[in-house]
Amino acid sequence: MAALQIITIIITTTMGNYCPSIEYKRNDKMIELPEARTIAKDLEKEILGKTIRDVSGNYTGHKFTFYYKDPNEYKNQLIGKKIAKINERNYYVEFEIEDYKLIMRDGVNIRYYDNKQTIPEKSKLLLSFDDSSFINITVAMYGFIGVVKNDENMNDKYYDMEIKGIGVLDQEYTFEYFKSLINDTTKKLSAKAFLVTGQRILGIGNGVVQDILFNAKIHPKKKIQNMSDAEIEALYNSSKNTIITMIEQGGRDTEKNIYGEYGKYKTILSSKTYKNSKCPNCGNAFKKENYLGGSIYYCEECQLNI
Ligand SMILES: [Zn+2]
Repeated sequence: MAALQIITIIITTTMGNYCPSIEYKRNDKMIELPEARTIAKDLEKEILGKTIRDVSGNYTGHKFTFYYKDPNEYKNQLIGKKIAKINERNYYVEFEIEDYKLIMRDGVNIRYYDNKQTIPEKSKLLLSFDDSSFINITVAMYGFIGVVKNDENMNDKYYDMEIKGIGVLDQEYTFEYFKSLINDTTKKLSAKAFLVTGQRILGIGNGVVQDILFNAKIHPKKKIQNMSDAEIEALYNSSKNTIITMIEQGGRDTEKNIYGEYGKYKTILSSKTYKNSKCPNCGNAFKKENYLGGSIYYCEECQLNI
């Protein structure tokens, strides 16, 4: 209930219709880049080239599912068309379906079923294919689903940022580029704020940032201006390497893939692990605090805030 109240406040204060942004409103239990890449790879294997036979879903039963235009129209737009491409995005995936795109983000979850299962009860969008397999899309907390013509501009600033911004795995994300993001304003930010807010770096959210900071041995609240050159470099390296490791292991163990299985990357710091595990470096218990619209977990000993 408390979570719903928070979302209501956020939504009414910052938007008319739809606003959930990649920025501070992302929950730390949502799909982030490592899972998005895993999901894209699995979807390529399962649905690429398949023809959509039917489109359905309960479009009205969830207050915090935000559709682009009228979802009842999606059926007319998509039936008989082929999944032509799965686009990898920093925070989710996107399907190219001939002359349309299906765009999803925030708390959207995709599950794939072969032809043996019964249709799930909860569905925000269900695409059935000609071989009787289907994918079911559900939403946790809040999420966006949109079917958009290829040449149509949604006028959605978060989508535009996702397309134009630089993500952790992009070639442009070099150490030089990372350093260029530090200026008189941003050097006053904490490490977490620098990495997660302002869309400076796409692909780092409240979830993956925890292990990025742990691996760099940086306290989440440590200010950029108080870091040594070596610490700045460690932060950059960790932002890339931690995410690459997460992708190699099929996403984090806090999130599920399209088959409903948790990823194999064992999070060091997450809501799932921080209580029952000790710091692998020094053996101390981890600390938890609320900070910048989410929880932070850290080791007091290894991530000093000085
Ligand atoms: Zn430690």
